[in-house]
Amino acid sequence: MLKGKTALVTGSTSGIGLGIALTLARQGVNIVLNGFGDAEGPKAEVAALGVKVGYHGADMSKAGEIEAMMAYIEAEFGGCDILVNNAGIQHVAAVEEFPVERWDAIIAINLTSAFHTTRLALPGMKARGWGRIINVASTHGLVASAQKSAYVAAKHGIVGFTKSVALETATTGVTVNAICPGWVLTPLVQKQVDARAGADGISIDEAKKRLLAEKQPSLQFTTPEELGELAVFMCSDAAANVRGQAWAMDGGWTAQ
Ligand code: NAD
Repeated sequence: MLKGKTALVTGSTSGIGLGIALTLARQGVNIVLNGFGDAEGPKAEVAALGVKVGYHGADMSKAGEIEAMMAYIEAEFGGCDILVNNAGIQHVAAVEEFPVERWDAIIAINLTSAFHTTRLALPGMKARGWGRIINVASTHGLVASAQKSAYVAAKHGIVGFTKSVALETATTGVTVNAICPGWVLTPLVQKQVDARAGADGISIDEAKKRLLAEKQPSLQFTTPEELGELAVFMCSDAAANVRGQAWAMDGGWTAQ
């Protein structure tokens, strides 16, 4: 059903974005990757699934580079049918010590970038009568943790943005939803595991256990593949009337 569509997954050279890109590619979706670091490895993984793959290295904190990426997709793929706003960064510090530059970067990458990709992708989706916008928020879009003020503000912001755009598109073939993962063991979380192991003088394994025990009742990490399958469902016809939702996949974190 999704064969031949084109998806842009921002921040897809690693972690959750790469997991979602690979899961969509298994459905026959052509993929445009984005993100920093090695792009050749992820490109080869996607290409091995038999779909067309592209890459654009736009820095998601820069509106001009995002505009160039959207123009590249229009020229090379004929437009973006599925937009997964996933690029994100984290910084952990108390608010009075929070570096101003980190605050600005988190708001730009985790929130404002989705405004730019959405405003640029939406006209084409509406013209074609079909589109899916999936914003990778977080449990931190629904509840807070200490030391993460910028991240929590950006993630609550993107949940609000999701609802607003879902209302603006409610009578169209475009749906807009958010996915709210709990802990997923990606490089972004590994840094927090390492910091905890160092601070508490414990092993990496023990740090993982403590991290999960504090928030995630299942005591299991959510996986990028599980999140990819949720994205595939959101792209399906069965989800045509799922609009403006912030769907948690968090091992029970936000049920508490
Ligand atoms: P990750 O660090 O593995 O991947 C982040 C991706 O974003 C990478 O591809 C990186 O290159 C890219 N990126 C970072 N800054 C960028 C920029 N300025 N421009 C373009 N690309 C940039 O992290 P992840 O855990 O896979 O996180 C992906 C998303 O999922 C983020 O929005 C994050 O907030 C969210 N999330 C993660 C978890 C978790 O537990 N890992 C939980 C909830 C939500």
